[in-house]
Amino acid sequence: MLGEHSIDHVVLERGEIANSWRRERWDSLRLLTPNWQTRLPGLRYAGADPDAYMTCPEVAGFISDFAASFAAPVRTQTEVKSVTPVEDGYSVTTNNGELRCRSLVIASGACNVPAVPALRQAVPSSVESVTPFDYRNPSRLPEGGVLVVGASATGVQLADEIRRSGRRAVLSVGEHVRLPRTYRGRDVLWWMMASGVWDQRYDEIDDLERARALPSPQLVGTPERTTLDLNALSAEGVELVGRLAAIRDGCALFSGGLRNQFALADLKMNRLLDTFDDWARGAGDVEAGAPERFEPTRVPASPRLSLDLTRGDIRSIVWATGFRPDYNWLKVPVVDAKGRLRHDGGVVDAPRMYAIGLPVLRRRKSSFIHGAEDDARDLVEHLVRSLEA
Ligand SMILES: Cc1cc2nc3c(=O)[nH]c(=O)nc-3n(C[C@H](O)[C@H](O)[C@H](O)COP(=O)(O)OP(=O)(O)OC[C@H]3O[C@@H](n4cnc5c(N)ncnc54)[C@H](O)[C@@H]3O)c2cc1C
Repeated sequence: MLGEHSIDHVVLERGEIANSWRRERWDSLRLLTPNWQTRLPGLRYAGADPDAYMTCPEVAGFISDFAASFAAPVRTQTEVKSVTPVEDGYSVTTNNGELRCRSLVIASGACNVPAVPALRQAVPSSVESVTPFDYRNPSRLPEGGVLVVGASATGVQLADEIRRSGRRAVLSVGEHVRLPRTYRGRDVLWWMMASGVWDQRYDEIDDLERARALPSPQLVGTPERTTLDLNALSAEGVELVGRLAAIRDGCALFSGGLRNQFALADLKMNRLLDTFDDWARGAGDVEAGAPERFEPTRVPASPRLSLDLTRGDIRSIVWATGFRPDYNWLKVPVVDAKGRLRHDGGVVDAPRMYAIGLPVLRRRKSSFIHGAEDDARDLVEHLVRSLEA
């Protein structure tokens, strides 16, 4: 888009094109967004199975094809070490020398490092801590049972495959977003798109801070279009426990609020399904099955409140507790005390500095692959105007 406006630009990438999809994902991961939704400006999925979900190598191929389609000026193996303000722009230091630019777009990702709670320090040395960046498949974990902390997209997917590999899997569940894979015969993300929920703008959302902090939905992309909610996991034998509150004397302590967590997630899912149904009624001739409602999340009879990590049956903890961006290289005062970039819809609080690819940056879909296009168009327009000013 910058090229369309004849704006000289360069893309600096510390690794290869689509680095995060090549280096930072586990073996079995597929997109949770369907192929028909995987699109970048001017490039759409053209294969035979629009309802399937890409593997990581397929995503990497898709992004590489996109870069090749317009000969994107990407300098790979070029890590930005620092960005500092200078007169009329920024000085960018990299492992391959220094550059000057008038405008800067931060597209370094929302998920650079795993966000692991400080209580990790209290894990006994006999138990290995693993983050989603280290995890590849169950066979690479130490023998024995696994405690997975966090029940959003990553946590439910990893608990599922660890349990299926024949191990004991305990899943610690805090706040989560429950979604069925399909609703009324269509992918639930089709409903998100068609009903306009994905396109909701950041300046129309009442509690933006909360929307930006929402965990990812409990979804998995499988050829069977399986729903991977907590009922499915407990039916497989995954043990559900409450939020990990502390680790004391080698013992993991879980909060007792499981019933409330489940009720809240069920309520929010049903509200979203109501939104879809309302939209479908208003839209008239939507081709879809009849409205559905799903079994409430089953609460275990007496969920355990503690787990002794020193007994030897739990040998590893997978911290599926989210990710965060890393702005250590950004030597411009635009990052708040919580490590978040200060921006208004991607327009950063510094002259001609922009960001893209962050949660609910300009729309609910902003941090998804298909969300980049609309945001990029808006931000490039802003950038062009500011260069002309
Ligand atoms: C586990 C997981 C599953 C996901 N599943 C989906 C999904 O199913 N569908 C979907 O649409 N989205 C999904 N996402 C979100 C997905 O990451 C984004 O949609 C998309 O990758 C964002 O692209 P991006 O270019 O903004 O960020 P990234 O893909 O993170 O790319 C940022 C790039 O910046 C580079 N970089 C970082 N710091 C520096 C530096 N200092 N110097 C130079 N280069 C640097 C990195 O190497 C990286 O290549 C998922 C994310 C994760 C973590």
